Amino acid sequence: MNEVQLEVAKAYPNDSGRGIARLDPDTLLHLKLSPGDIIEIEGADTTAAKVWRADRQDWNTDTVRIDGFTRQNADVGIGERVSIRKAEAKKADSLVLAPPEEASVQFGSDAAGMVKRQILKRPVVERDIVPVMSSTNHPFMRSPGQAIPLIAVETEPEGVVLVTEDTDVELREEPISGFEKTGGGITYEDIGGLQSEIQRVREMVELPMKHPQIFKKLGIEPPQGVLLHGPPGTGKTLLAKAVANETSASFFSIAGPEIISKYYGESEQQLREIFEDATEESPSIIFIDELDSIAPKREDVTGEVERRVVAQLLTMMDGLESRGQVIVIAATNRVDSVDPALRRPGRFDREIEIGVPDETGREEILQIHTRGMPLSDDVNLGHLADETHGFVGADIESLTKEAAMKALRRYLPEIDLDEEDIPPSLIDRMIVKREDFRGALNE
Ligand code: ADP
Repeated sequence: MNEVQLEVAKAYPNDSGRGIARLDPDTLLHLKLSPGDIIEIEGADTTAAKVWRADRQDWNTDTVRIDGFTRQNADVGIGERVSIRKAEAKKADSLVLAPPEEASVQFGSDAAGMVKRQILKRPVVERDIVPVMSSTNHPFMRSPGQAIPLIAVETEPEGVVLVTEDTDVELREEPISGFEKTGGGITYEDIGGLQSEIQRVREMVELPMKHPQIFKKLGIEPPQGVLLHGPPGTGKTLLAKAVANETSASFFSIAGPEIISKYYGESEQQLREIFEDATEESPSIIFIDELDSIAPKREDVTGEVERRVVAQLLTMMDGLESRGQVIVIAATNRVDSVDPALRRPGRFDREIEIGVPDETGREEILQIHTRGMPLSDDVNLGHLADETHGFVGADIESLTKEAAMKALRRYLPEIDLDEEDIPPSLIDRMIVKREDFRGALNE
């Protein structure tokens, strides 16, 4: 059968959640595909996606760009190889979707119709994660992009199917258990800018986790601790979560200030427990936010608690035996206030600066945070990126939320708060306009 092997790369920011695979013209020709056709993507698992043409800079790179959901559906990571071939997609007679295990969702009365409209013509394979955008306030929303990952628990017929107007889409509120994929969590597509920083973190963390034998062979120690430093709101936490998610590592999070405020002895015990759990559930990433608050230079330390917590942290890090399988990522915005003892070899001996985004970075972040929004044609994200000099990711996120709130206020007079459901026609009409961003910027 006609098929090609390609390396997986991350999706363009706007593609995320849409079930799209980007291929270059050579590959399209070779597989006799046209944009809009459906392909099968086979990694450790097999899924399907709709083909779009890649941008020119990706031509002849032997890559396929797919988003985090599709990567989970094919069970592959960025940089791994997949087989691609043309798929015979059948029309779906029926499709049953349910939330993953840990999620509980309530669907409104027209939810099935809304979901169907969103995923029309999208290819689905049983057991796939099918992300849908939520337009209402939802208890289970991933922070950026606001996609709710649902699982295709049943399709009729089986194989690669396409959702059509005639497909009977059923939504179950009951979470489905026993599915490995959860679809939740942050992926690299949720991070704007920071290309080279992501690359470095992947080399330091993903490589030793996935391929410990390389390090063994070369006789080098994989890193134990990575320190991310830079201003608040630039994506340090986001990056740590994305790495954990993309490597399928367990994620443990410690908030610096919180652990300090425990009763006598409790901070150390909690640290110990987290390290023990992380070792048990390895591969794991332990993320320590605001490291400077628990580990300031010891000469600055007045508090007895801080001193003991630092000592405990040092003990735990020195005692980690599963090298490369438990990695501690810490974040700080005051790298100079971190105890030098923690920055010695074998501890946090790798540092990556996470800086304020430049214009291109800001545009990507704007795309990410407006992904789930219906934008009017007059909104130009390039211009907005130009006008938001000095904004960090968190500022851009607030800006987009504020713009959406401004848009919502425009429709409020038409919404009857006593009615349980908002008319779908109104929801379909809602858009966020340039004036909403103007207003949000001027606040
Ligand atoms: P930090 O840990 O550096 O203080 P966070 O990662 O917690 O910052 O960022 C806070 C929020 O701001 C994130 O949840 C995200 O919504 C947004 N954000 C920050 N940086 C970025 C980025 N580079 N790309 C996309 N969103 C970002």
